[in-house]
Amino acid sequence: MVEADVGSRKKKERLIREVVKTFSKYSEDELIPSALLQEDLGIDSIMIAAIAAELNKMFTVPQPVTTQGVETLNMLIEKFGKYELGEEAWYRWFPSSAVRQSDNDVDSAVTVPADYDRLTIRDFVGDGGADLFAKVERFAPFLKDRTSQGLFWYGMAAKDRSANRAVIFDEHAGQEREFLMFASNNYLDLANDPRVIQAIGDAAKKFGATHTGSRLIGGTSALHKELEAKLAALKGRDDCIVFPSGYSANVGVLSALLGPNDVVISDVYNHMSIQDGAKLAGAARRIYSHNDMDSLEQVLQRAADRPGGKLIVADGVFSMHGDIAKLPDMIRLAKQYNARLLIDDAHATGVLGERGSGTAEHFGLKGAVDLEVGTLSKALAGMGGFVVGNRDVIDYLRFYANAYVFAAAIPAHVAAGLITSIEILQQEPERIEKLWSNIRYLRTALQQQGFDTEQSDSAIIPVAIGDEQKAMTFGRAVRRRGLFCQTVVFPGVAVGEARLRISVLTSHTREDLDQAVDILIEVACETRLLEVN
Ligand code: PMP
Repeated sequence: MVEADVGSRKKKERLIREVVKTFSKYSEDELIPSALLQEDLGIDSIMIAAIAAELNKMFTVPQPVTTQGVETLNMLIEKFGKYELGEEAWYRWFPSSAVRQSDNDVDSAVTVPADYDRLTIRDFVGDGGADLFAKVERFAPFLKDRTSQGLFWYGMAAKDRSANRAVIFDEHAGQEREFLMFASNNYLDLANDPRVIQAIGDAAKKFGATHTGSRLIGGTSALHKELEAKLAALKGRDDCIVFPSGYSANVGVLSALLGPNDVVISDVYNHMSIQDGAKLAGAARRIYSHNDMDSLEQVLQRAADRPGGKLIVADGVFSMHGDIAKLPDMIRLAKQYNARLLIDDAHATGVLGERGSGTAEHFGLKGAVDLEVGTLSKALAGMGGFVVGNRDVIDYLRFYANAYVFAAAIPAHVAAGLITSIEILQQEPERIEKLWSNIRYLRTALQQQGFDTEQSDSAIIPVAIGDEQKAMTFGRAVRRRGLFCQTVVFPGVAVGEARLRISVLTSHTREDLDQAVDILIEVACETRLLEVN
Protein backbone atom coordinates (compact mmCIF):
# COMPACT_ATOMS: atom_id res chain seq x y z
CA MET A 1 0.00 0.00 0.00
CA VAL A 2 1.37 3.44 -0.89
CA GLU A 3 1.93 5.95 1.90
CA ALA A 4 -0.94 8.24 0.88
CA ASP A 5 -3.36 5.31 1.12
CA VAL A 6 -2.12 4.46 4.57
CA GLY A 7 -2.64 8.10 5.63
CA SER A 8 -6.11 8.30 4.21
CA ARG A 9 -7.09 4.97 5.73
CA LYS A 10 -5.89 6.12 9.14
CA LYS A 11 -7.85 9.28 8.73
CA LYS A 12 -11.05 7.43 7.87
CA GLU A 13 -10.54 5.06 10.78
CA ARG A 14 -9.97 7.94 13.17
CA LEU A 15 -13.10 9.66 11.98
CA ILE A 16 -15.27 6.56 12.24
CA ARG A 17 -13.95 5.86 15.74
CA GLU A 18 -14.66 9.46 16.70
CA VAL A 19 -18.23 9.20 15.49
CA VAL A 20 -18.75 5.94 17.40
CA LYS A 21 -17.13 7.46 20.49
CA THR A 22 -19.40 10.49 20.38
CA PHE A 23 -22.59 8.50 19.99
CA SER A 24 -21.71 5.72 22.44
CA LYS A 25 -19.85 7.90 24.98
CA TYR A 26 -17.21 5.20 25.26
CA SER A 27 -13.57 6.13 25.69
CA GLU A 28 -10.95 5.37 23.06
CA ASP A 29 -9.66 2.37 25.07
CA GLU A 30 -13.07 0.79 25.40
CA LEU A 31 -13.66 0.71 21.65
CA ILE A 32 -11.90 -2.57 20.97
CA PRO A 33 -12.07 -3.04 17.19
CA SER A 34 -13.08 -6.71 17.37
CA ALA A 35 -15.69 -6.31 20.15
CA LEU A 36 -19.30 -6.99 19.21
CA LEU A 37 -21.07 -3.65 18.98
CA GLN A 38 -24.30 -4.73 20.63
CA GLU A 39 -23.42 -7.57 22.92
CA ASP A 40 -20.01 -6.41 24.13
CA LEU A 41 -20.25 -2.65 23.90
CA GLY A 42 -23.93 -2.05 24.50
CA ILE A 43 -24.26 -0.04 21.28
CA ASP A 44 -27.76 -0.97 20.17
CA SER A 45 -29.28 -1.01 16.72
CA ILE A 46 -30.81 2.46 17.14
CA MET A 47 -27.44 3.90 17.98
CA ILE A 48 -25.76 1.97 15.17
CA ALA A 49 -28.38 3.35 12.78
CA ALA A 50 -27.67 6.87 14.03
CA ILE A 51 -23.93 6.31 13.57
CA ALA A 52 -24.51 4.95 10.06
CA ALA A 53 -26.68 7.96 9.18
CA GLU A 54 -23.85 10.25 10.25
CA LEU A 55 -21.25 8.25 8.31
CA ASN A 56 -23.44 8.21 5.22
CA LYS A 57 -23.35 11.99 5.27
CA MET A 58 -19.58 12.01 5.55
CA PHE A 59 -18.53 9.54 2.94
CA THR A 60 -19.23 9.89 -0.75
CA VAL A 61 -21.47 6.86 -1.08
CA PRO A 62 -23.39 6.06 -4.30
CA GLN A 63 -26.39 5.10 -2.17
CA PRO A 64 -26.88 4.93 1.61
CA VAL A 65 -24.73 2.19 3.10
CA THR A 66 -26.65 -0.03 5.51
CA THR A 67 -25.15 -1.64 8.58
CA GLN A 68 -26.75 -4.98 7.94
CA GLY A 69 -24.32 -7.68 8.97
CA VAL A 70 -21.99 -5.19 10.68
CA GLU A 71 -21.24 -6.72 14.06
CA THR A 72 -17.95 -5.17 15.09
CA LEU A 73 -16.21 -1.83 14.90
CA ASN A 74 -13.70 -3.33 12.47
CA MET A 75 -16.52 -4.33 10.16
CA LEU A 76 -17.96 -0.82 10.33
CA ILE A 77 -14.58 0.71 9.45
CA GLU A 78 -14.21 -1.81 6.64
CA LYS A 79 -17.66 -1.05 5.25
CA PHE A 80 -17.33 2.74 5.12
CA GLY A 81 -13.55 2.86 4.62
CA LYS A 82 -14.02 1.83 0.97
CA TYR A 83 -15.52 5.19 0.11
CA GLU A 84 -14.03 8.63 -0.32
CA LEU A 85 -14.18 10.89 2.70
CA GLY A 86 -15.49 14.42 2.18
CA GLU A 87 -13.05 17.02 3.50
CA GLU A 88 -15.97 18.99 4.87
CA ALA A 89 -17.02 16.06 6.99
CA TRP A 90 -13.51 15.76 8.33
CA TYR A 91 -13.49 19.44 9.20
CA ARG A 92 -16.81 19.20 10.96
CA TRP A 93 -15.51 16.54 13.28
CA PHE A 94 -11.98 17.85 13.64
CA PRO A 95 -12.33 21.58 13.00
CA SER A 96 -8.93 22.30 14.52
CA SER A 97 -7.27 20.56 11.57
CA ALA A 98 -8.40 23.45 9.41
CA VAL A 99 -6.14 25.84 11.24
CA ARG A 100 -3.25 23.56 12.11
CA GLN A 101 -0.44 23.38 9.62
CA SER A 102 0.20 19.67 10.14
CA ASP A 103 -1.11 16.76 12.07
CA ASN A 104 0.87 13.56 12.45
CA ASP A 105 -2.24 11.42 12.38
CA VAL A 106 -3.83 12.86 9.30
CA ASP A 107 -2.95 13.62 5.72
CA SER A 108 -2.74 17.39 5.78
CA ALA A 109 -4.60 20.49 6.81
CA VAL A 110 -7.93 21.12 5.15
CA THR A 111 -9.69 24.35 4.35
CA VAL A 112 -12.69 25.76 6.17
CA PRO A 113 -15.72 24.21 4.49
CA ALA A 114 -18.64 26.01 2.99
CA ASP A 115 -21.01 24.27 5.38
CA TYR A 116 -19.62 25.97 8.51
CA ASP A 117 -23.27 26.68 9.24
CA ARG A 118 -23.91 23.03 9.89
CA LEU A 119 -21.48 22.82 12.81
CA THR A 120 -23.16 21.89 16.08
CA ILE A 121 -22.13 21.65 19.73
CA ARG A 122 -21.09 18.09 18.99
CA ASP A 123 -18.21 19.33 16.84
CA PHE A 124 -16.22 20.75 19.72
CA VAL A 125 -15.64 17.74 21.93
CA GLY A 126 -11.98 16.73 22.36
CA ASP A 127 -9.80 16.28 19.32
CA GLY A 128 -6.92 14.49 20.97
CA GLY A 129 -4.52 17.39 20.46
CA ALA A 130 -1.89 18.38 23.02
CA ASP A 131 -3.50 21.71 23.87
CA LEU A 132 -6.63 21.11 25.92
CA PHE A 133 -7.80 24.63 25.20
CA ALA A 134 -7.61 24.28 21.39
CA LYS A 135 -11.25 23.20 21.32
CA VAL A 136 -12.13 26.11 23.57
CA GLU A 137 -10.58 28.52 21.09
CA ARG A 138 -12.55 26.96 18.25
CA PHE A 139 -15.77 26.98 20.25
CA ALA A 140 -15.59 30.65 21.26
CA PRO A 141 -16.16 32.13 17.75
CA PHE A 142 -18.80 29.48 17.03
CA LEU A 143 -20.72 30.45 20.16
CA LYS A 144 -20.41 34.15 19.33
CA ASP A 145 -21.60 33.53 15.80
CA ARG A 146 -24.62 31.46 16.85
CA THR A 147 -25.54 33.91 19.58
CA SER A 148 -25.32 36.89 17.24
CA GLN A 149 -27.57 35.08 14.76
CA GLY A 150 -30.09 34.68 17.55
CA LEU A 151 -29.83 30.91 17.36
CA PHE A 152 -28.57 30.38 20.90
CA TRP A 153 -30.52 31.79 23.79
CA TYR A 154 -29.37 29.62 26.64
CA GLY A 155 -29.38 31.01 30.13
CA MET A 156 -31.29 34.24 29.65
CA ALA A 157 -32.03 35.70 33.07
CA ALA A 158 -35.49 35.93 34.63
CA LYS A 159 -36.16 39.20 36.43
CA ASP A 160 -38.15 37.67 39.25
CA ARG A 161 -40.28 34.62 39.98
CA SER A 162 -41.44 32.53 37.10
CA ALA A 163 -44.91 30.98 36.93
CA ASN A 164 -47.14 30.65 33.86
CA ARG A 165 -45.47 33.78 32.60
CA ALA A 166 -42.03 35.18 33.31
CA VAL A 167 -40.26 38.46 32.69
CA ILE A 168 -36.91 37.60 31.14
CA PHE A 169 -34.14 39.81 29.83
CA ASP A 170 -34.11 38.96 26.13
CA GLU A 171 -30.46 39.39 25.20
CA HIS A 172 -31.28 39.46 21.51
CA ALA A 173 -33.91 42.15 21.81
CA GLY A 174 -31.77 43.94 24.43
CA GLN A 175 -34.76 44.42 26.75
CA GLU A 176 -36.96 42.72 29.31
CA ARG A 177 -39.99 40.92 27.89
CA GLU A 178 -42.84 38.95 29.33
CA PHE A 179 -42.86 35.41 27.99
CA LEU A 180 -45.38 32.61 28.16
CA MET A 181 -43.38 30.18 30.29
CA PHE A 182 -43.34 26.64 28.91
CA ALA A 183 -39.76 25.74 29.83
CA SER A 184 -40.06 25.37 33.57
CA ASN A 185 -40.31 22.26 35.75
CA ASN A 186 -42.32 24.11 38.39
CA TYR A 187 -45.16 21.74 37.54
CA LEU A 188 -47.38 22.35 40.57
CA ASP A 189 -46.46 26.02 41.13
CA LEU A 190 -45.08 25.17 44.54
CA ALA A 191 -42.01 27.33 43.87
CA ASN A 192 -44.25 30.40 44.23
CA ASP A 193 -46.44 29.19 47.06
CA PRO A 194 -46.32 31.69 49.96
CA ARG A 195 -46.34 28.86 52.53
CA VAL A 196 -43.24 27.29 50.99
CA ILE A 197 -41.48 30.65 50.79
CA GLN A 198 -42.45 31.43 54.40
CA ALA A 199 -41.09 28.06 55.61
CA ILE A 200 -37.79 28.73 53.83
CA GLY A 201 -37.50 32.19 55.42
CA ASP A 202 -38.33 30.94 58.91
CA ALA A 203 -35.85 28.08 58.73
CA ALA A 204 -33.09 30.31 57.36
CA LYS A 205 -33.53 32.55 60.41
CA LYS A 206 -33.39 29.57 62.73
CA PHE A 207 -30.70 27.43 61.10
CA GLY A 208 -28.60 30.11 59.38
CA ALA A 209 -27.59 30.33 55.73
CA THR A 210 -26.13 26.83 55.58
CA HIS A 211 -24.09 24.37 57.62
CA THR A 212 -21.07 24.06 55.34
CA GLY A 213 -20.62 20.33 55.63
CA SER A 214 -21.43 16.82 54.50
CA ARG A 215 -24.28 14.98 56.19
CA LEU A 216 -21.90 12.63 57.99
CA ILE A 217 -19.87 15.42 59.54
CA GLY A 218 -21.84 18.35 60.79
CA GLY A 219 -24.25 18.78 57.90
CA THR A 220 -27.33 17.03 59.30
CA SER A 221 -30.19 19.01 60.83
CA ALA A 222 -33.51 17.83 62.23
CA LEU A 223 -35.07 19.14 59.02
CA HIS A 224 -32.99 16.81 56.84
CA LYS A 225 -34.23 13.86 58.87
CA GLU A 226 -37.81 15.06 58.66
CA LEU A 227 -37.53 15.56 54.90
CA GLU A 228 -36.17 12.05 54.39
CA ALA A 229 -39.00 10.58 56.47
CA LYS A 230 -41.58 12.56 54.48
CA LEU A 231 -40.16 11.44 51.13
CA ALA A 232 -40.03 7.80 52.23
CA ALA A 233 -43.68 8.04 53.33
CA LEU A 234 -44.72 9.75 50.07
CA LYS A 235 -43.18 6.92 48.10
CA GLY A 236 -44.36 4.20 50.48
CA ARG A 237 -40.82 2.99 51.21
CA ASP A 238 -38.73 2.18 54.28
CA ASP A 239 -36.20 4.92 54.04
CA CYS A 240 -34.77 7.76 51.98
CA ILE A 241 -31.38 9.41 51.45
CA VAL A 242 -31.17 13.00 50.22
CA PHE A 243 -28.31 14.05 47.91
CA PRO A 244 -27.16 17.55 46.90
CA SER A 245 -28.89 17.16 43.50
CA GLY A 246 -30.79 14.70 41.33
CA TYR A 247 -27.71 14.38 39.15
CA SER A 248 -25.55 13.43 42.12
CA ALA A 249 -28.23 11.02 43.40
CA ASN A 250 -27.92 8.96 40.20
CA VAL A 251 -24.16 9.20 40.09
CA GLY A 252 -23.97 8.36 43.81
CA VAL A 253 -26.27 5.36 43.82
CA LEU A 254 -24.90 3.78 40.64
CA SER A 255 -21.25 4.22 41.57
CA ALA A 256 -21.88 2.91 45.10
CA LEU A 257 -23.73 -0.25 44.07
CA LEU A 258 -21.95 -1.22 40.85
CA GLY A 259 -18.40 -2.21 40.07
CA PRO A 260 -16.46 -3.47 37.06
CA ASN A 261 -17.97 -6.96 37.36
CA ASP A 262 -21.51 -5.68 37.14
CA VAL A 263 -23.65 -4.54 34.27
CA VAL A 264 -26.02 -1.60 33.88
CA ILE A 265 -28.83 -2.21 31.42
CA SER A 266 -30.09 1.15 30.38
CA ASP A 267 -32.82 2.57 28.13
CA VAL A 268 -31.23 4.41 25.22
CA TYR A 269 -33.04 7.64 26.24
CA ASN A 270 -32.00 7.65 29.89
CA HIS A 271 -30.83 10.87 31.50
CA MET A 272 -27.14 11.79 31.27
CA SER A 273 -26.68 11.41 35.05
CA ILE A 274 -27.49 7.69 34.69
CA GLN A 275 -24.97 7.26 31.92
CA ASP A 276 -22.36 9.20 33.89
CA GLY A 277 -23.03 7.15 37.05
CA ALA A 278 -22.56 3.92 35.10
CA LYS A 279 -19.31 5.23 33.64
CA LEU A 280 -18.00 6.26 37.05
CA ALA A 281 -18.88 2.84 38.46
CA GLY A 282 -16.74 1.25 35.73
CA ALA A 283 -19.57 -1.21 35.14
CA ALA A 284 -20.23 -2.76 31.75
CA ARG A 285 -22.96 -0.85 29.93
CA ARG A 286 -25.68 -2.39 27.82
CA ILE A 287 -28.35 -0.40 26.08
CA TYR A 288 -31.81 -1.47 25.02
CA SER A 289 -34.03 0.26 22.47
CA HIS A 290 -36.27 2.90 23.90
CA ASN A 291 -39.07 1.40 26.02
CA ASP A 292 -38.82 -1.77 23.92
CA MET A 293 -39.37 -4.74 26.20
CA ASP A 294 -38.26 -7.28 23.57
CA SER A 295 -35.00 -5.45 23.24
CA LEU A 296 -34.64 -5.32 27.05
CA GLU A 297 -35.25 -9.05 27.27
CA GLN A 298 -32.69 -9.77 24.55
CA VAL A 299 -30.07 -7.76 26.40
CA LEU A 300 -30.93 -9.58 29.65
CA GLN A 301 -30.63 -12.92 27.88
CA ARG A 302 -27.21 -12.05 26.50
CA ALA A 303 -26.06 -10.91 29.94
CA ALA A 304 -27.56 -13.93 31.72
CA ASP A 305 -24.28 -15.83 32.05
CA ARG A 306 -22.27 -12.91 33.33
CA PRO A 307 -20.93 -13.46 36.85
CA GLY A 308 -21.67 -10.01 38.33
CA GLY A 309 -24.86 -8.18 39.34
CA LYS A 310 -27.34 -6.60 36.94
CA LEU A 311 -29.20 -3.34 37.27
CA ILE A 312 -31.95 -2.27 34.87
CA VAL A 313 -32.33 1.51 34.85
CA ALA A 314 -34.88 3.77 33.21
CA ASP A 315 -36.37 7.22 33.59
CA GLY A 316 -39.96 6.91 34.87
CA VAL A 317 -40.96 9.80 32.59
CA PHE A 318 -38.41 10.29 29.81
CA SER A 319 -37.15 13.82 30.13
CA MET A 320 -36.98 14.78 26.44
CA HIS A 321 -39.81 12.60 25.14
CA GLY A 322 -42.43 12.69 27.90
CA ASP A 323 -43.45 9.03 27.64
CA ILE A 324 -43.64 6.65 30.59
CA ALA A 325 -41.43 3.59 31.26
CA LYS A 326 -43.28 0.27 30.91
CA LEU A 327 -42.89 -0.52 34.56
CA PRO A 328 -44.99 -3.71 34.90
CA ASP A 329 -42.98 -5.45 32.17
CA MET A 330 -39.73 -4.17 33.57
CA ILE A 331 -40.54 -5.54 37.03
CA ARG A 332 -41.44 -8.91 35.50
CA LEU A 333 -38.23 -9.07 33.45
CA ALA A 334 -36.08 -7.96 36.39
CA LYS A 335 -37.45 -10.84 38.48
CA GLN A 336 -37.14 -13.35 35.66
CA TYR A 337 -33.49 -12.48 34.98
CA ASN A 338 -32.44 -11.86 38.54
CA ALA A 339 -31.72 -8.19 38.01
CA ARG A 340 -32.40 -5.18 40.25
CA LEU A 341 -34.48 -2.28 38.98
CA LEU A 342 -33.94 1.46 39.43
CA ILE A 343 -36.43 4.06 38.19
CA ASP A 344 -35.53 7.75 37.95
CA ASP A 345 -38.72 9.65 38.76
CA ALA A 346 -37.32 13.16 38.25
CA HIS A 347 -40.27 14.16 36.04
CA ALA A 348 -42.79 11.73 37.54
CA THR A 349 -42.74 12.84 41.18
CA GLY A 350 -45.61 15.29 41.69
CA VAL A 351 -47.00 14.44 38.25
CA LEU A 352 -47.82 10.73 37.99
CA GLY A 353 -50.22 8.93 40.30
CA GLU A 354 -53.28 10.34 42.02
CA ARG A 355 -51.18 11.39 45.01
CA GLY A 356 -48.28 12.45 42.79
CA SER A 357 -45.84 9.91 44.16
CA GLY A 358 -44.62 8.82 40.73
CA THR A 359 -44.38 5.99 38.23
CA ALA A 360 -44.91 3.12 40.67
CA GLU A 361 -48.15 4.67 41.94
CA HIS A 362 -49.29 5.34 38.36
CA PHE A 363 -49.15 1.59 37.68
CA GLY A 364 -50.49 0.55 41.12
CA LEU A 365 -47.07 -0.89 41.93
CA LYS A 366 -45.94 1.20 44.88
CA GLY A 367 -43.05 -0.48 46.67
CA ALA A 368 -42.36 -2.95 43.85
CA VAL A 369 -39.26 -1.18 42.44
CA ASP A 370 -35.90 -1.83 44.13
CA LEU A 371 -34.75 1.77 44.01
CA GLU A 372 -36.51 5.00 43.09
CA VAL A 373 -34.53 8.15 42.44
CA GLY A 374 -36.06 11.60 42.38
CA THR A 375 -35.10 15.22 42.18
CA LEU A 376 -36.23 17.89 44.62
CA SER A 377 -35.67 20.66 42.09
CA LYS A 378 -38.71 20.22 39.87
CA ALA A 379 -42.30 19.63 41.09
CA LEU A 380 -41.25 19.75 44.75
CA ALA A 381 -39.72 23.18 44.20
CA GLY A 382 -36.47 22.98 46.13
CA MET A 383 -33.03 21.68 45.42
CA GLY A 384 -31.45 18.26 45.83
CA GLY A 385 -32.06 14.67 44.86
CA PHE A 386 -33.13 11.55 46.70
CA VAL A 387 -33.21 7.77 46.62
CA VAL A 388 -35.81 5.61 48.36
CA GLY A 389 -35.71 1.86 48.95
CA ASN A 390 -35.21 -0.73 51.64
CA ARG A 391 -33.63 0.54 54.85
CA ASP A 392 -30.50 -1.61 54.56
CA VAL A 393 -29.81 -0.43 51.04
CA ILE A 394 -30.26 3.21 52.06
CA ASP A 395 -27.97 2.73 55.06
CA TYR A 396 -25.36 1.25 52.76
CA LEU A 397 -25.59 4.25 50.46
CA ARG A 398 -24.98 6.59 53.40
CA PHE A 399 -21.48 5.15 53.67
CA TYR A 400 -20.61 4.19 50.08
CA ALA A 401 -22.21 6.86 47.87
CA ASN A 402 -19.38 9.36 47.52
CA ALA A 403 -21.74 12.03 46.22
CA TYR A 404 -23.35 11.93 49.69
CA VAL A 405 -20.30 11.27 51.87
CA PHE A 406 -17.99 13.82 50.28
CA ALA A 407 -20.37 16.65 49.42
CA ALA A 408 -22.16 19.25 51.53
CA ALA A 409 -25.87 18.72 52.07
CA ILE A 410 -28.70 20.99 50.93
CA PRO A 411 -29.19 23.84 53.44
CA ALA A 412 -31.76 23.27 56.21
CA HIS A 413 -34.05 26.03 54.90
CA VAL A 414 -34.24 24.27 51.53
CA ALA A 415 -35.29 21.12 53.42
CA ALA A 416 -37.92 23.20 55.25
CA GLY A 417 -39.41 24.45 51.97
CA LEU A 418 -39.50 20.89 50.63
CA ILE A 419 -41.26 19.57 53.73
CA THR A 420 -43.96 22.20 53.23
CA SER A 421 -44.17 21.39 49.52
CA ILE A 422 -44.78 17.71 50.27
CA GLU A 423 -47.45 18.63 52.82
CA ILE A 424 -49.21 20.83 50.26
CA LEU A 425 -48.94 18.10 47.63
CA GLN A 426 -50.68 15.71 50.00
CA GLN A 427 -53.35 18.19 51.10
CA GLU A 428 -54.13 19.62 47.67
CA PRO A 429 -54.41 16.85 45.08
CA GLU A 430 -56.42 19.29 42.97
CA ARG A 431 -53.09 20.76 41.84
CA ILE A 432 -52.31 17.46 40.11
CA GLU A 433 -55.83 17.32 38.66
CA LYS A 434 -55.47 20.81 37.21
CA LEU A 435 -52.05 19.92 35.81
CA TRP A 436 -53.53 16.88 34.05
CA SER A 437 -56.45 18.82 32.69
CA ASN A 438 -53.92 21.28 31.19
CA ILE A 439 -51.76 18.46 29.83
CA ARG A 440 -54.72 16.81 28.09
CA TYR A 441 -55.99 20.10 26.70
CA LEU A 442 -52.67 21.16 25.21
CA ARG A 443 -51.70 17.71 23.94
CA THR A 444 -55.04 17.25 22.19
CA ALA A 445 -54.88 20.71 20.65
CA LEU A 446 -51.37 20.11 19.31
CA GLN A 447 -52.24 16.69 17.96
CA GLN A 448 -55.35 18.02 16.26
CA GLN A 449 -53.20 20.56 14.48
CA GLY A 450 -50.93 17.80 13.21
CA PHE A 451 -47.92 18.34 15.47
CA ASP A 452 -46.02 15.16 16.31
CA THR A 453 -46.08 14.84 20.10
CA GLU A 454 -44.75 11.27 19.98
CA GLN A 455 -45.89 9.00 22.84
CA SER A 456 -45.97 11.76 25.45
CA ASP A 457 -48.15 11.03 28.49
CA SER A 458 -46.87 13.49 31.05
CA ALA A 459 -46.28 17.20 31.58
CA ILE A 460 -43.47 17.07 29.02
CA ILE A 461 -44.84 17.42 25.51
CA PRO A 462 -42.35 17.27 22.66
CA VAL A 463 -42.94 18.78 19.25
CA ALA A 464 -40.75 16.52 17.14
CA ILE A 465 -38.85 18.31 14.36
CA GLY A 466 -35.82 16.12 13.56
CA ASP A 467 -33.23 18.28 11.85
CA GLU A 468 -31.19 20.35 14.28
CA GLN A 469 -31.05 23.53 12.23
CA LYS A 470 -34.75 23.44 11.49
CA ALA A 471 -35.39 23.05 15.20
CA MET A 472 -33.13 26.01 16.03
CA THR A 473 -34.84 28.19 13.45
CA PHE A 474 -38.27 27.08 14.66
CA GLY A 475 -37.29 27.64 18.30
CA ARG A 476 -35.99 31.12 17.54
CA ALA A 477 -39.20 32.10 15.73
CA VAL A 478 -41.30 30.79 18.60
CA ARG A 479 -39.27 32.68 21.16
CA ARG A 480 -39.51 35.90 19.16
CA ARG A 481 -43.27 35.62 19.43
CA GLY A 482 -43.02 35.36 23.18
CA LEU A 483 -43.24 31.62 23.83
CA PHE A 484 -40.42 30.39 26.04
CA CYS A 485 -39.91 26.65 25.62
CA GLN A 486 -36.83 24.51 25.20
CA THR A 487 -35.25 23.78 21.85
CA VAL A 488 -33.48 20.49 22.38
CA VAL A 489 -30.67 19.34 20.13
CA PHE A 490 -27.73 16.95 20.51
CA PRO A 491 -26.56 15.93 23.12
CA GLY A 492 -29.94 16.43 24.86
CA VAL A 493 -31.31 14.09 22.20
CA ALA A 494 -29.73 11.98 19.46
CA VAL A 495 -28.76 13.67 16.20
CA GLY A 496 -31.84 13.79 13.96
CA GLU A 497 -34.25 13.94 16.90
CA ALA A 498 -34.20 17.67 17.56
CA ARG A 499 -37.40 19.03 19.04
CA LEU A 500 -39.18 21.67 21.00
CA ARG A 501 -39.87 20.52 24.52
CA ILE A 502 -42.92 22.04 26.10
CA SER A 503 -43.55 21.75 29.84
CA VAL A 504 -47.13 22.12 31.00
CA LEU A 505 -47.79 23.68 34.41
CA THR A 506 -50.68 23.80 36.85
CA SER A 507 -50.43 27.59 36.70
CA HIS A 508 -51.18 27.78 32.96
CA THR A 509 -54.55 29.23 32.14
CA ARG A 510 -56.61 28.16 29.12
CA GLU A 511 -55.63 31.45 27.54
CA ASP A 512 -51.92 30.64 27.99
CA LEU A 513 -52.40 27.21 26.41
CA ASP A 514 -54.40 28.63 23.48
CA GLN A 515 -51.83 31.33 22.88
CA ALA A 516 -49.01 28.78 22.88
CA VAL A 517 -50.82 26.67 20.27
CA ASP A 518 -51.52 29.76 18.13
CA ILE A 519 -47.85 30.73 18.19
CA LEU A 520 -46.76 27.24 17.18
CA ILE A 521 -49.25 27.14 14.30
CA GLU A 522 -48.21 30.60 13.12
CA VAL A 523 -44.53 29.66 13.10
CA ALA A 524 -45.22 26.34 11.38
CA CYS A 525 -47.18 28.10 8.62
CA GLU A 526 -44.71 30.91 8.17
CA THR A 527 -41.51 28.92 8.21
CA ARG A 528 -43.01 25.88 6.47
CA LEU A 529 -40.70 23.79 8.61
CA LEU A 530 -43.54 21.63 9.91
CA GLU A 531 -46.72 20.67 8.18
CA VAL A 532 -49.83 21.44 10.15
CA ASN A 533 -53.51 21.13 9.40
N1 PMP B 1 -32.79 12.70 36.16
C1 PMP B 1 -33.61 13.21 35.22
C2 PMP B 1 -34.48 12.27 34.43
C3 PMP B 1 -33.65 14.59 34.99
O1 PMP B 1 -34.44 15.08 34.04
C4 PMP B 1 -32.83 15.43 35.77
C5 PMP B 1 -32.85 16.94 35.59
N2 PMP B 1 -32.91 17.40 34.32
C6 PMP B 1 -32.00 14.86 36.72
C7 PMP B 1 -32.01 13.51 36.89
C8 PMP B 1 -31.07 15.72 37.54
O2 PMP B 1 -31.76 16.40 38.53
P1 PMP B 1 -31.19 17.74 39.20
O3 PMP B 1 -31.49 18.85 38.27
O4 PMP B 1 -31.90 17.84 40.49
O5 PMP B 1 -29.72 17.54 39.38
